[in-house]
Amino acid sequence: MSKQDELDAIFKRIAAEHGKLTAKQVEFAIREIGRIRGEIADMLADYAGADGTIKRSRLMRLLRELETVEQSLRQYGTGVLHDIIEESADIAIEQVRIAFHRVLSESLNTVSLNQNVIDYVTTRFGDDGLVLSDRIWSTSGVIRDAIATQLRSDIIKGESVGTMVRNVRKVYDNQTWMIKRLVVTESNTAYRTASCMSVERSDVIDWVRIVDNGSRHPRHKEHMCYKLAREDRYGEGRGIFRPTDSEIYSPHVNCSSYIVPVLKSEYL
Ligand SMILES: [Zn+2]
Repeated sequence: MSKQDELDAIFKRIAAEHGKLTAKQVEFAIREIGRIRGEIADMLADYAGADGTIKRSRLMRLLRELETVEQSLRQYGTGVLHDIIEESADIAIEQVRIAFHRVLSESLNTVSLNQNVIDYVTTRFGDDGLVLSDRIWSTSGVIRDAIATQLRSDIIKGESVGTMVRNVRKVYDNQTWMIKRLVVTESNTAYRTASCMSVERSDVIDWVRIVDNGSRHPRHKEHMCYKLAREDRYGEGRGIFRPTDSEIYSPHVNCSSYIVPVLKSEYL
């Protein structure tokens, strides 16, 4: 097996492991951000009268108090996304370091690499023209609005607090796809960025290859990763880029493509 074959196999395995990690990160984020469900249940209990319902006259005040729920959503979302980005960056950096040591006997200097990755991922502008904190704000606003709409209708109908708490849970469950999309996008971006920035520190490797990983998606051929993986920009081969080409860090939302270091021919 050539050194390049070894690298290909290692990075394919790491990508599969990172995919499993991302699934856990999604669950973690939904659970963490979901702590607001408990806060809302407490709030509703405070507003309820002896008959277990909330008077219409208290509706406006309760809806205004959802402001604090939105603040919690942003706070939990920011904390959880930061942890996830850091975790994916850490894992990618460590795996590249181990692989380079094992296959190439090169010791990578990884000082401050993690912070560089976090800075890049959290401040980059996506195709939507937003940075991460904007996306957390807008997701929090959408979830809060959906909950407000539900509570307004339940209070007008005179539903019990127990029913309202169950309905809030349903509303939250219907919105978790947005949290999933945020986590999958950011976690994979951190992972690819960390892979590229690690390779950039190498004296042995100048190139990386992007491998598209979404062939089960029905419109995969329309995805940017599919196009990048087939582009021969530098005459070095298809999918081969410089590790500083940031368009391979985040080809599109929900992208699970991954990065493989490519050896110079004299090292093969
Ligand atoms: Zn993709």
